[in-house]
Amino acid sequence: MQPKRIIILGATGSIGRSALDVAVSRPDLFRVVGLSAHARESELLEAARKVPGAALCVTGTESGSSDVRYRGPEGIRRMLEDNPAEVALNGISGAAGLGPSLDVIAAGMDLALANKETMVLAGRLVLERAAAAGVRVIPVDSEHSAVFQLVERFGSGDLDEIVLTASGGAFRDRPIEELHRATPEEASTHPNWSMGRKITIDSASMANKGLEVIEAVRFFGVDPDRVRVLIHPQSRVHALIRMRDGALYAQISGTDMRLAIQSALTWPRTEACAFGRLDLADLTLTFRAPDPARFPLLDLAYRAVKSGEGHTIAYNAANETAVDLFVRRRIRFTDLAPVTAAVLDLAWPSRIDDVGEVLSVDGRARNAALEAAKGT
Ligand code: NDP
Ligand code: MG
Repeated sequence: MQPKRIIILGATGSIGRSALDVAVSRPDLFRVVGLSAHARESELLEAARKVPGAALCVTGTESGSSDVRYRGPEGIRRMLEDNPAEVALNGISGAAGLGPSLDVIAAGMDLALANKETMVLAGRLVLERAAAAGVRVIPVDSEHSAVFQLVERFGSGDLDEIVLTASGGAFRDRPIEELHRATPEEASTHPNWSMGRKITIDSASMANKGLEVIEAVRFFGVDPDRVRVLIHPQSRVHALIRMRDGALYAQISGTDMRLAIQSALTWPRTEACAFGRLDLADLTLTFRAPDPARFPLLDLAYRAVKSGEGHTIAYNAANETAVDLFVRRRIRFTDLAPVTAAVLDLAWPSRIDDVGEVLSVDGRARNAALEAAKGT
């Protein structure tokens, strides 16, 4: 069998670097034909040495090394058009990942999706376009990868409930009354996973799990009340599905994103994998319900997804804006939820049918979050 040709978007990030590891670990399975980064050009050139001949794209600057053939906002689309591949992995962070996801689908490639914001901002639109183009969207986010693997094997006909697990993040055991003093540095350390800064802070507030609830609703077409979150401090069980008869089935592996990435890249096949193999002996696995007072952003995500498509865009935009203000020490950790709640209180369209409208709601929600933050 010929190796699958793959393109890695966001190659300099935590997911992107892991994807490159996976690809170079199995040259029999994968051939990397394209890489993108945004600002860190020298890191991209360094990464490119592992995959000679791959096309390179830098979206954030208009000039630099002549080894980078594609540049600027249109760079990713042009790289995808010029370099055919079977699958492209989107490891770009934030709302900026939506356009590239649509570009991958338009180029007729399967989309291995780590960028959860794509589903939060425009899940229905993205799946509709993928169906029309005859390509698949395969989740990489560990919980959704787990649910996908389970649903692919069990079918969704008798699915009753999806259970997403959460580590609880940096502050799961800190007294609630001390959270207002939490610093960006403290919020940026994760007990179990090594990831980019934004998602690590979102793990501490559980906005990450909020985004994942929305992602699960959109990916698997289930009612929000059928997506449950449990704190599982060991992060070994990534998700469970409950069938109509009450039985639960779990996906269990180590805390290494490279397994989820490989599963997505080899789908629909399962191949031997050098990462994530777990020995269960002597492990204790525990589960508990999250405390809503500690994690208000989780409940706000349920509120957003039940309100409609505009509200989920607003939820993401408000949280991204608030996290940015928190990192710059303009607001406190405990202000993240009230700022997001104030933005969700505004009126947003319940259904959104084009990308321009997504970006317009996103922009308005960011401004509303800046306004709300002034009042904190
Ligand atoms: P990082 O911050 O580590 O990496 C982000 C990547 O996106 C970098 O390559 C960066 O390029 C690129 N990028 C940033 N802004 C833009 C932009 N405006 N346009 C194009 N490219 C851009 O993030 P992570 O790897 O942690 O996360 C990536 C995505 O995957 C997020 O959506 C996250 O929620 C999701 N995810 C991550 C997990 C993890 O383990 N890290 C687990 C599950 C999901 P440059 O370096 O040049 O700035
Ligand atoms: Mg996840």
